Amino acid sequence: MDKASLIDPFGRAVNYLRVSVTDRCNYRCVYCMAEDMTFLPKSDLLTLEELDRVCSAFVRRGVDKIRLTGGEPLVRRGIMTLIRSLGRHLQTGALRELTLTTNGSQLVKYADELVAAGVRRINVSLDTLDAEKFQQATRWGKLEEVLAGIAAAKAGGLEIKINAVALKGLNENEFDRLIEWCGEQGFDLTLIETMPVGEINLDRVDQYLPLSRVREQLAKNWTLEETDYQTGGPARYDVIRETGKRIGFITPLSHNFCESCNRVRLTCTGQLYMCLGQDDEADLRTPLRASEGDDLLLDAIDEAIGRKPKGHDFVIDRRDAQPAVARHMSVTGG
Ligand code: SAM
Ligand code: SF4
Repeated sequence: MDKASLIDPFGRAVNYLRVSVTDRCNYRCVYCMAEDMTFLPKSDLLTLEELDRVCSAFVRRGVDKIRLTGGEPLVRRGIMTLIRSLGRHLQTGALRELTLTTNGSQLVKYADELVAAGVRRINVSLDTLDAEKFQQATRWGKLEEVLAGIAAAKAGGLEIKINAVALKGLNENEFDRLIEWCGEQGFDLTLIETMPVGEINLDRVDQYLPLSRVREQLAKNWTLEETDYQTGGPARYDVIRETGKRIGFITPLSHNFCESCNRVRLTCTGQLYMCLGQDDEADLRTPLRASEGDDLLLDAIDEAIGRKPKGHDFVIDRRDAQPAVARHMSVTGG
């Protein structure tokens, strides 16, 4: 067994793989997708078995946390087959955590199966508790189906963290309500700045709301106690004294978090992105399909980690209206 862990050129250990299992979604969130999207032809996708092989190769290389995302991971046909199969690495102890980020719309159907497969925690995206605004943000979403999904997940025993993208003019006055609700429900909350990824036919400058400003506002109504709590992710957390729950701030634009990056991202076509904000990628599909054994695949993974870049350089301003990278968040997996 190869225990070799993946160490990048800057000495960072890569132990976290995020996998976008599909670029498709049943919603069209305004910061994520254009309404009229062209998705990848199904024939380009890795099969569920192939996704399992790539994930398992990363586990052999010491990855101990896998997050499935998308697109909407739970709309990929047969997704539970993959999740159940990856669950075997939890049983051996090779994998510490198998989790997913979801829009919550399918959780009524899948919550219990996820628990049975070994999933313990999930992130659910929910930008607002106002039904009308929710529909504005997601275009095709229905708040009630997400709330029902969250309730089913909670009842099934899943720990839930809520993710909300901060959007000027949409939810900037909603955070108090979200904090209160998360406190009642027992959920941590993470606020995310919009990132300039993918063409969305809208002006990102108009959407961008710096979280430094949001935090200042929140501090007027809530007692935010700084913590050094880390999930291995880019969020910085405070504990809200009044609710006892955490609030995280993901600030790719106003604060750069690359120095502690421990992750890489696999797309549903088998490309590995070593950085969310850079275009360099490694093709894992060719070595995967070139032989039945995993030697070529493992070599390709090692080679890719050897060129993980130091960081990203996202900027949102009027002079530079282009997205930092052309691909959508749903391709690389947010
Ligand atoms: N469909 C699932 C969901 O919405 O949770 C998983 C995929 S989605 C791309 C993952 C996360 O990325 C969501 O929390 C979403 O809000 C966030 N996201 C999408 N586009 C973003 C953008 N341009 N900037 C910041 N976060 C974004
Ligand atoms: Fe779909 Fe998630 Fe993107 Fe919204 S953020 S369109 S739910 S992939």
